[in-house]
Amino acid sequence: MLANKTALVTGSVDGIGFAIAAQLASQGCAVMLNGFAAEDHISAQMASLRDSGATVAYHGADLSIPDQINDMVTETRRQFGKIDIVVNNAVTRTYANIEDLPVESWNYALAVNLSAPYHIVRQVMAEMKERRWGRVINIASNYALRGTARRSDYCSTKHGLLGLTRVIALEGLDFGITANAICPGATLTPHARKLVAQRMAASGKTEEEATRDYLAQRQPSKRFVDPKDVGTLAAFLCSDGARDITGGPVAIDGGWLAYS
Ligand code: NAD
Repeated sequence: MLANKTALVTGSVDGIGFAIAAQLASQGCAVMLNGFAAEDHISAQMASLRDSGATVAYHGADLSIPDQINDMVTETRRQFGKIDIVVNNAVTRTYANIEDLPVESWNYALAVNLSAPYHIVRQVMAEMKERRWGRVINIASNYALRGTARRSDYCSTKHGLLGLTRVIALEGLDFGITANAICPGATLTPHARKLVAQRMAASGKTEEEATRDYLAQRQPSKRFVDPKDVGTLAAFLCSDGARDITGGPVAIDGGWLAYS
């Protein structure tokens, strides 16, 4: 249980981030949400967490802008008194061959996917060390461990995020702080639904056929990972029972990495 703990979860108004926030909240953790979405969607997501008794707040920081990140960290501390858990989940990605990837997209991905986790962790590490307890969970991908075409911004920043995770883990060893990089396989989020819909539009296939094709090229389990299961894994990594799980890529990918 995570009663009396507090968490900052980036990119958490939907998808995997929201599932993690919901799981932490269900264990009594106060949660600061972040991410872009329509105001009524954000209000509804917050209400659904509050319905189960959780303490929830929201900060709309654009993670590509360090001043806004700093403000989010300050505001989380002001509202909750401290930050025990950081989940770096937000992501941006552009699908293109490297010669077609705009410089702006590359720089934006570096800022959101890699620099933002650095800016957040560099500000909370000292307080975690002081309390001798902390959890950093970076949501990476199995593309932190392998490559794929047309995804130079994504693969590069996810590999970098795994490197950052390993360093945080080593620096936290004597202070009760763990850091892990969760590496999900194909997970059924709004983004994945969009990719399946694009396949349906391009091929005229049904949703079931397009899903089967999408997963056949990836996940041996032949089913999407459920975001709720990623939430359960993240909450376990926050538990005291996981105190010796640190520095690793932690896969939840239906066997994808097993044959990579
Ligand atoms: P998503 O695209 O649905 O959500 C990303 C979140 O990041 C959104 O809430 C968005 O608002 C937020 N975001 C983007 N740019 C931002 C910015 N500048 N400032 C603040 N917030 C910003 O993603 P998802 O599919 O739920 O994936 C979540 C995490 O899981 C990501 O790190 C992703 O790389 C990883 N992942 C997902 C899958 C998958 O199949 N969905 C697979 C492997 C890894």
